Amino acid sequence: MQLKVVKFGGSSLSDTEHFMRVASIIKADPTRRYVVASAPGKRTDDDQKVTDMLYTCYNMIKNREDITDYYQKIVERYTGIISGLNLNFDITGELEYIKSAMMARSGRDFAASRGEYLNSLILAKYLGFDFIDAENVIFFKDNGSFDEEKTNEAMKAELKKHKNAVIPGFYGSMPNGTIKTFTRGGSDITGSIVARASNADLYENWTDVSGFLMADPRIVKDPLPISTVTYRELRELSYMGAGVLHEDSIFPVQKEGITINIRNTNHPEDEGTLIVPNMYTDENEHLITGVAGKKGFSVINIEKNRMGGEFGFAARVFKCLDNYAIHTEHLASGIDTMSHIVSTKELNSKMDELVTELHRVTDADNITVDTGLALVAVVGRGMKESKGTAARIFSAISGAGVNVRMIDQGSSELNIVVAIYESDYEKTIQAIYNEFIK
Ligand code: ASP
Repeated sequence: MQLKVVKFGGSSLSDTEHFMRVASIIKADPTRRYVVASAPGKRTDDDQKVTDMLYTCYNMIKNREDITDYYQKIVERYTGIISGLNLNFDITGELEYIKSAMMARSGRDFAASRGEYLNSLILAKYLGFDFIDAENVIFFKDNGSFDEEKTNEAMKAELKKHKNAVIPGFYGSMPNGTIKTFTRGGSDITGSIVARASNADLYENWTDVSGFLMADPRIVKDPLPISTVTYRELRELSYMGAGVLHEDSIFPVQKEGITINIRNTNHPEDEGTLIVPNMYTDENEHLITGVAGKKGFSVINIEKNRMGGEFGFAARVFKCLDNYAIHTEHLASGIDTMSHIVSTKELNSKMDELVTELHRVTDADNITVDTGLALVAVVGRGMKESKGTAARIFSAISGAGVNVRMIDQGSSELNIVVAIYESDYEKTIQAIYNEFIK
């Protein structure tokens, strides 16, 4: 029998009505056997996510403030859902325990994780599914990194014992038993971990949009949806800030080549976006899969005659950047030049010191730093096979009157990244979109 893992985000589980919607989606397909739940999200634009409220409680306790009234709002979120669903389920003991544990300084991650814990208890009860506490099946190492293999073994063994189960997203435990969370939005990772461990046929990630769009809708009006994207393409796009799915959630399913399907809880009839393994070969109707980008970059230009013939030159530059904890996001090099694109935020306070140090270790002829850049990535598996894509991209950009500061085409020919001035960012995205889509 087929098996699907389904993850519901906070907006899909924000109130009684959404719980009902979620239950009908799950019940409509008996292969939807394992469910990963987020904490209740916002019900309206000016509402608060329960996770944020729990962080606030933690901070209030740290500042020795009284949380009684504020915590009551969290209590009401959960008791409101339970009574709306007509569930015979008393959660007051759990809520009281959590409050006192928080006051006894059980930690920031413990506080934050209780949002998913409580929501999953309620959902399991409502669906009549078993509850598996993530703290017993998801593990971190002493250094705080995720322990993939230990988790996979434990999760696999536990899932075998349950035909249907709800697992809270976002957290696991440290070797000493304390709770640790992933970074924000981490329930997506939990879903992927469960999909890998159960060798699922599909990982459905239910949220409040019908998948990915080919461009940012704040820049391009009504961009087309992306129906299929490969893991690699998505890495390129999400790294550039395309949101929707936590960027680390690709890794667990990638191990088993499991497809992820982004679906919309409020429009279950929409097919959403399929995220498929890289071996996927399908004609891409539009040549490009998407265009995305980010502001906030700087370029460090290093010039030195005959640098290419000097042993260890690049190594010294990288070592120096490393010492200042600055990552090279992109690198372009010429015969006597080397340009490192870095995050302006990382660079800012260290700029003068870094340039002095770079001069010292390289004896360069000239080093300049240009700030206020944006990166735009044009991504598409279709670009590999077709000639003239780069020409179209650059004529579209120059047609918009934009000057390109740097170009980087990955050797996989999957993406072309250009650096431009921040003030040209929106224009550039729009021009590329128009060239390929309109
Ligand atoms: N509730 C957590 C957050 O708001 C995790 C998640 O929803 O994935 O970040």
